[in-house]
Amino acid sequence: MDSSALDLLQSVFGYPSFRGQQQAIVEQLCAGGDALVLMPTGGGKSLCYQIPALLRQGTAIVVSPLIALMQDQVDALREAGVAAAYLNSSLGAEDQREVERQLLAGELNLLYVAPERLLTGRFLGLLERTEVALFAIDEAHCVSQWGHDFRPEYRELAILHQRFPQVPRIALTATADPRTRDEIVERLSLQQARQFVASFDRPNIGYRVGLRDNAKRQLTEFLQGHRGESGIVYCLSRKKVDDIAEWLAEIGVEALPYHAGLDATKRAANQKRFLREDGVVMVATVAFGMGIDKPDVRFVAHLDLPRSIEGYYQETGRGGRDGLPAEAWMIYGLSDVVTMSQMIAQSESADDRKRVERQKLESLLAYAEATDCRRQLLLGAFGETYPGPCGHCDNCVAPPKTWDATVPAQKALSAVYRSGQRFGSGHVIDILRGEETQRVLSLDHHRLSTFGIGAEMDEKQWRSVFRQLLAAGLLEADAEGYGTLRLTAASRAVLSGEKTVKLREDARPARGRRRDSKLIVAGGSLGIEAYEQSMWDALRALRTQLAKQHGVPPYVVFHDATLLAMLRALPANEDELATISGVGEAKLKRYGRDFLAVINAQE
Ligand code: ADP
Ligand code: ZN
Repeated sequence: MDSSALDLLQSVFGYPSFRGQQQAIVEQLCAGGDALVLMPTGGGKSLCYQIPALLRQGTAIVVSPLIALMQDQVDALREAGVAAAYLNSSLGAEDQREVERQLLAGELNLLYVAPERLLTGRFLGLLERTEVALFAIDEAHCVSQWGHDFRPEYRELAILHQRFPQVPRIALTATADPRTRDEIVERLSLQQARQFVASFDRPNIGYRVGLRDNAKRQLTEFLQGHRGESGIVYCLSRKKVDDIAEWLAEIGVEALPYHAGLDATKRAANQKRFLREDGVVMVATVAFGMGIDKPDVRFVAHLDLPRSIEGYYQETGRGGRDGLPAEAWMIYGLSDVVTMSQMIAQSESADDRKRVERQKLESLLAYAEATDCRRQLLLGAFGETYPGPCGHCDNCVAPPKTWDATVPAQKALSAVYRSGQRFGSGHVIDILRGEETQRVLSLDHHRLSTFGIGAEMDEKQWRSVFRQLLAAGLLEADAEGYGTLRLTAASRAVLSGEKTVKLREDARPARGRRRDSKLIVAGGSLGIEAYEQSMWDALRALRTQLAKQHGVPPYVVFHDATLLAMLRALPANEDELATISGVGEAKLKRYGRDFLAVINAQE
């Protein structure tokens, strides 16, 4: 390939080399072909169309579903000296006209637009009078009605191919499942596109899943390893979001809430602080995240089970986009399983949709309860074979103990069956343990043959068994949403003794180590050594100050990875600084002197 793509990568973006399939994708577009790109979050999708946008004649039109994302990308491109703009509802009439003028005058390398804007007759008319370099359709999975981000307007984007058949198109997504991929091809008429499918592994993310017993205490302990770092804490309900955010603020963590129940101004303000300040923790429902491409999110915590393994992977994938270490941490319990089943049952969805959702929940539960490498399991869910244990998830680091639970499972299943498959786990456990509760007595359940047959195990142990039976699909919660349990087609083989049941021993949640919750001690994902701390703080402070002056988020000035490289290399002059990954020509000129001054002053 002509060296100009590489030249641009180095001079504009400051990166020494292409990553993975980036170069092949750039070549495909520059040659006028279409491309479908499936790459995990943080894989480096943007450069795949930004570089062709600079190499091809005309303006690249980028369709993007979220306003926040557009602004970020345009800010970052401008910082790198690229002529980029966006058109969306956040602009006033005057500014819009100016952008349109620039488009027609051929002054823009890239123009970001919202899909509904792109599809207007007016805008398509403008495009007809413009030289279009390429169309990039970001977050292409929005065409899929099975996904959580379905956007009806995305389906109409096939019109681009009809109206501008000679303009190359690239569709990009971080959603990996084959069903979504097929839908993108079909809906966007991308049958001729070359497909670039990257591995979805995120090697810099470590995975950890535990049982919830006291969410606040567990979260505090977890945060002790992430002091001063940006992260996201996902909760299922708005109420829990408010509660956790408030409590974190009380114990001295910079935490903000985000959910659809907050008014739009408050939401936007919180999002902005998360993006613009270092070290803010966002406590949020799933409403938060799409299009947040903050690169330095160091952890993603789930205090409840997410809806599906795809959702989980997308949410956890928001950590560590910059390639530096990040942690995905989740705690959950039996009640989550029941709540999730209820939510699915009570949703307005059609039956086939509910079936899909239930399957998704089941694969997520299998993940949560897994005793083997979690990375292998996650990637397997996306049809990818990961060779061998990863060594970087909790199960690899400390393999869980398992036990033969065939007999307790039989007892549990028959107690469910004998009591008529009409009760939740609490009551069935009372029967098993022989508790003469009022409910048991009034229902005559103390006369059942299963009454008291499980007295040898305590309530907690039984809850563990029920949770895992549910997760394994050997029991199911009722579709009506009362939390009652019943047998499944798979239960029979266990009851008849044909199938044995192996369960994991629930690790006792670490107690004892309880510390003063106000005392969150440093740990840090980035491995900053004590002797480096003052230089690191100085670099970050300068970055924050410059970001404020330029009205952009700190990571738009330089990523953590770039600051870290400076910290380690301590460049003495502009030539040395220019060799640091992430320092392009425009930024060297703009910020070089300030950073060198800080480095030289400290040494
Ligand atoms: P995606 O859109 O796939 O989630 P981005 O395009 O935002 O990912 O890229 C993720 C991060 O990786 C960004 O910080 C980007 O600057 C960086 N990056 C992308 N390509 C390269 C490269 N070739 N070398 C170094 N860093 C890169
Ligand atoms: Zn592993």
